[in-house]
Amino acid sequence: MSPLVLDIPGTTTHPFTTSLPVDGVLLDLPDEGISFPSPGTVKVDVEPVNEGFVLTGALDVPVQSSCSRCLTPVVLRVSERFRVVLSRDAGGGEGEDDWVHFTRGEREFDLTPIVRDLVVVALPAKPLCSDRCLGLCPVCGNDRNRASCSCTGTTVDPRWAALMSLRADEKSFEREETNHGIAEEKDKQNQA
Ligand SMILES: [Zn+2]
Ligand SMILES: [Zn+2]
Repeated sequence: MSPLVLDIPGTTTHPFTTSLPVDGVLLDLPDEGISFPSPGTVKVDVEPVNEGFVLTGALDVPVQSSCSRCLTPVVLRVSERFRVVLSRDAGGGEGEDDWVHFTRGEREFDLTPIVRDLVVVALPAKPLCSDRCLGLCPVCGNDRNRASCSCTGTTVDPRWAALMSLRADEKSFEREETNHGIAEEKDKQNQA
């Protein structure tokens, strides 16, 4: 039995609340860039109604991703609420998103697809460590949140780029593999 299966005894006539651990790995999410630092939880209120049950759930899952600007790990919390009606009425709410046919003989309801969808929808396409993240310098790769670098602008100035390619052509000029920018190359020239 998957850990995210809710057990609802058919004879239940009183509302109850249950809580299940959420192992993110079992959600089998498509994005490879994310991981789960610790288990989450899903808390579900089960309320018996005339023709079935109303489930009101609260999901809380920590998800680790990386900042889309500076690449540092970021832990995001997926905190979402949901509601599902489990109905014995065969055609009662057909077509409604939160309606599921649940026969009298059933007592297990798998929350996995619901939890998976909530996590997928809640995850930002471009996570950020902070709204004010300065990101990495596109020239030298420096993390601009930790220290500033001497590079100017957000891209390599085309005039510098032309100069750099000229220099690279000179046989006497040993260009560093690290691509560490203009300041360092200038220093080397001064030393020579
Ligand atoms: Zn960042
Ligand atoms: Zn830089």
